[in-house]
Amino acid sequence: MDSLLKHMVDMTGYRDHTMLDISVISAVQELACATQTRMLALTTVRGQIFVRARAIIVAGGKARMEEHQDPSLHGDPLSDFPALAACIARHETSCDALSADGRHLLWLPIWIGDQITTCLEITDPTPYTGATIQVIGGVVSVYRNFQNLLDYSERDSLTGLLNRKTFDDQLAKILQTRGDADPEAARPAEEERRHQSNAERQWLAVVDVDHFKLVNDKFGHLYGDEVLILIANLLQSSFRSQDRIFRFGGEEFVVLLRSITLDNAQKIIDRFRINVESHEFPQVGRVTVSVGFVSISAYEAPVIILGRADQALYYAKSHGRNLACHYDELVEKGMLTAVASNDTAEFF
Ligand code: GH3
Ligand code: MG
Ligand code: MG
Repeated sequence: MDSLLKHMVDMTGYRDHTMLDISVISAVQELACATQTRMLALTTVRGQIFVRARAIIVAGGKARMEEHQDPSLHGDPLSDFPALAACIARHETSCDALSADGRHLLWLPIWIGDQITTCLEITDPTPYTGATIQVIGGVVSVYRNFQNLLDYSERDSLTGLLNRKTFDDQLAKILQTRGDADPEAARPAEEERRHQSNAERQWLAVVDVDHFKLVNDKFGHLYGDEVLILIANLLQSSFRSQDRIFRFGGEEFVVLLRSITLDNAQKIIDRFRINVESHEFPQVGRVTVSVGFVSISAYEAPVIILGRADQALYYAKSHGRNLACHYDELVEKGMLTAVASNDTAEFF
């Protein structure tokens, strides 16, 4: 019981989903004396559920996050795990199966309402006792409640999008991962960076609603708020599931687009801009947005990346609005002056 309490204290001390996963699988691994414990992520793509390991611990080792070469691959179809698929279809909270090599697998899907995005998987050479399943079920309940709490603190209450603080954390993580992945690589020259047009890169786009003050002035704050909620919905339906969307504050949003070429980034961002332009906002009518975007380089500080996107946004604002402008293209065409540092990372 001492060990259980110690793990609970440990788990609830984290303010980060990754560390929480690591802490939970470590706790379960020890409490169940298992040979392997994994945290599985379940993703629904066009109605089909895929399963992919997010974190893993094996007996005698340390818990770690699973590295995936291609983040756009969703993993194995749930149909490859028939016992788990049946358990999920019946909305149950645990099920077990014997693997081909005679190991016992125990799955505990983590339900949030009737949604499931996570499942704990424990592998052991011996069958699980009722007492073990009960203790682990308790750990899973604490984990679920705590995930909910973390989710709440990461989101903006008006739109439900991720908030500014989460953006700071996630951008820092992306930059760190990219830097760690290739520490020997020489810092690419500015010119070279701009010419890698076919390469898949990460992108940052800053979105600002045009003349939003007029919406508030003319229709009142409540209609203004509704426009923000509808724009958040349009952001979610226009971008891909692997992209991350944040409300940066006020009528400003930031999108992090993953692994995509310049052409596709431009297309997706423009599709969103046109979706807003052609949406009929109740009472308010037509609303437009301006966007500034830039590729993310692990060699640059977040304030520089944001400053560049902000410069491109400023260009869009001063050239008619309802435009999506690419920072590097503007610099190449001599329409913007590249700045090495930026102390005006202030949005509109
Ligand atoms: P521009 O096209 O240059 O971006 O003009 P703008 O009017 O959108 O820009 P400005 O920065 O002058 O005005 C932003 C307005 O957004 C002012 C503020 O009252 C409003 N605003 C900020 N947060 C909220 C919010 O949560 N709800 C509502 N309704 N309005 C908000
Ligand atoms: Mg604005
Ligand atoms: Mg603004």
